[in-house]
Amino acid sequence: MSFDYDVIIIGSGPAGFSCAMQSTKFDKKVLMVEADDNHLGGSWLNKGTVPSKALREAADLIQDFHTQFGDEKGRKPYERFKMEDLLSYKKSALESKNTKVKSDLIKNEVETARGWGEIVDEHTVQVKTSLNQSVTYTTENILIATGSSPTSPENFEIDHTNILDYNSILNITHIPRRLVIVGSGVITFEYATIFSSLGTTITILNESDQFLPFLDHEINEDVSKVLKKKGILIHPSVTVNEIKPNPLRTCIEVLYKTAAEDRLQVLETDQVLYVGEKSPNSENLFNKSLNIELDSTGYIVTDENYRTGIKNIYAAGDITGTPTSASTSFVQGRLAACSMFDIPAESPSGDVPYGIYSIPEISGIGLTEKQAEELGIDVTVGRAYYENLTYADINHRTDGMLKLVFRTDNLKLLGVHIFGDHATDLIHLGQSIMAQDGSIKYFIEHVLNYPTYSEAYRIAAFNGVNRVYKAGVKYKSILEK
Ligand SMILES: Cc1cc2nc3c(=O)[nH]c(=O)nc-3n(C[C@H](O)[C@H](O)[C@H](O)COP(=O)(O)OP(=O)(O)OC[C@H]3O[C@@H](n4cnc5c(N)ncnc54)[C@H](O)[C@@H]3O)c2cc1C
Repeated sequence: MSFDYDVIIIGSGPAGFSCAMQSTKFDKKVLMVEADDNHLGGSWLNKGTVPSKALREAADLIQDFHTQFGDEKGRKPYERFKMEDLLSYKKSALESKNTKVKSDLIKNEVETARGWGEIVDEHTVQVKTSLNQSVTYTTENILIATGSSPTSPENFEIDHTNILDYNSILNITHIPRRLVIVGSGVITFEYATIFSSLGTTITILNESDQFLPFLDHEINEDVSKVLKKKGILIHPSVTVNEIKPNPLRTCIEVLYKTAAEDRLQVLETDQVLYVGEKSPNSENLFNKSLNIELDSTGYIVTDENYRTGIKNIYAAGDITGTPTSASTSFVQGRLAACSMFDIPAESPSGDVPYGIYSIPEISGIGLTEKQAEELGIDVTVGRAYYENLTYADINHRTDGMLKLVFRTDNLKLLGVHIFGDHATDLIHLGQSIMAQDGSIKYFIEHVLNYPTYSEAYRIAAFNGVNRVYKAGVKYKSILEK
């Protein structure tokens, strides 16, 4: 039986893009279907990863400039810089990335179709354009890479002017003096520190009773200290009842209760950012008679090769649930392509790092100290504080720490946890050592460039080995083994 395409990919985010690139390398004919009439690249290029990071970079540069050189009139960053400056920085980054993605698709002869893709049967996808015209294509394989969208709040509505979501915050016209963020996760924290760097007064109304509970406990304590220093307030276990404008006081009022106090409290602010949960884009996507299983929250269930209940229909990226990130979506899309065309491929082995692009950044991989203890592993930790790094001294970015978690008996590295400038890049050195079952001796026995942030690994390794030595194990004999 012959088909129009070897694979039709529904969705052009990182999962769809990497599947397309890998499939064309196998000489396959690819059609990518995208519902957005204006942009390819999904949340990755248009709503999430790249635009928020471009905004972060601009805010970081402004904060750096402000901290290093001050302001003779004592103005806040938002009085010297305009939102326009940040938006044009973001725009140029997006334009450049969008052009590269489009040119990669063209160079690799990936065809694109704009419209809503729906799987009619095992080998047929119908694409409905925004003008309500339908075209039907046949294909040997299908990849569902439709991603996820933010959930809506229950007690108020996003109007994209006073109450924003993580899409509309990317296009605001002024840097707010005050911003209330309703949310609890990574994106909440990233935007809190981005706007705080611009001088905005930030209050986080956390719907949960914990904040970033997956972090190593000492990193979490360090984060709290920096939040305090920045004047970022977090109220835990909050329910927001109403958000309304107060024209007399020319502000927005947020009415909320906490678990601790049942009385209604009011916060005045210029704007509110709501960061909801993620919800899978699995509605109206396939004929319900098809054997494509969804879990209780609507995410598509696949096997380890990203195959659904139908052997030629795959799903990858956010639509398959956690971890929902561009980094994992890229890998999953490529592996799905390898599986559909029977090309052997190794799934990534070892632990997967996470990265939080706050200012400063947070990143981690492997076991935290507490997790290791819960598993009954005898671990020791080694710490390096940014304030003791020459490079951090030079660039005045002295907040943060790097923590190594390793086995006491053989110094094998089990986890790395970093809070500080460039943490998301720095983590990969630890990841490489862990992937090779290496020990912290690596950081002692190899020459690392100086001055760099990587010096933190050396300092933390010495700190850790000293602690082992003090616990009675012979330091010298460990290093000689
Ligand atoms: C604010 C924010 C910051 C983030 N920062 C990071 C970060 O720093 N690092 C990181 O790794 N990840 C980050 N992420 C997460 C990352 O953006 C997502 O995990 C990633 O984009 C998911 O990729 P995907 O390919 O699964 O889907 P998406 O990128 O969501 O793309 C899905 C595409 O499918 C299209 N689509 C949906 N349904 C249909 C249909 N039926 N027919 C046709 N097209 C359809 C959509 O229009 C969309 O373009 C961030 C997310 C957000 C929101």
